Amino acid sequence: MTEFTLLRERMVAEQIEPRGVTDARVLQAMRAVPRERFVDPDYADHAYEDRPLPIAEGQTISQPFIVALMAQAAQIRPTDRVLEIGSGSGYSAAVLSFLAARVWSIERHPKLARMAGSRIAELGRANVTVLRADGTNGWPPAAPFDAIVVTAGGPVVPEPLKQQLSPGGRLIIPVGEHGGVQRLMKVTRASAAEWIEEDLGAVQFVPLVIGQGLNGEA
Ligand code: SAH
Repeated sequence: MTEFTLLRERMVAEQIEPRGVTDARVLQAMRAVPRERFVDPDYADHAYEDRPLPIAEGQTISQPFIVALMAQAAQIRPTDRVLEIGSGSGYSAAVLSFLAARVWSIERHPKLARMAGSRIAELGRANVTVLRADGTNGWPPAAPFDAIVVTAGGPVVPEPLKQQLSPGGRLIIPVGEHGGVQRLMKVTRASAAEWIEEDLGAVQFVPLVIGQGLNGEA
């Protein structure tokens, strides 16, 4: 075993399983993705620490436990079509690629979207498409989705995301004011016009930017 493989095993055993993520497929996905490849090379030695880390554009790669918690809450089956909003480093999209049939991941920063796409391609994950767009509109061309995972937090649940869930579909999204503590919400589409909300606890994510262009960044 390489040093990183050992660190990854330890991450699962010490940070993730004891906190209640017990889904065997999720734990296997967390063991499968080399997190050190998704952080800045200067941070590679910190990749398996129990915390988020900075990436480009003032964003962060989420804490491993939170990635696992969201993946478990999304109840992803091997045949599922999954949408992620906030590709960031591409790490959580890579984790989701081991759980789902197909993953679409949307990122508003062109540079992050490019980097995430190439890292995922380098790992040979052929079932992931990274798109540069505003994810608050969802991704109508590929809708509906069995699960939608949002890795940035805003004050409201964007309506298009609720509409793009298939019947029985699950939306996992941090909700709260920017800069404050957010609640991780699970919104399940019970029927065409009925959604059931559950509060999974307090979390802290970078802002989900709603309806704002990226002047000069594209
Ligand atoms: N899942 C990521 C963590 C991403 S941090 C990882 O594993 O590394 C959240 C990301 O959401 C940031 O990269 C940010 O640029 C992006 N983001 C914020 N608002 C967005 C929006 N409206 N549409 C798409 N991406 C958005």
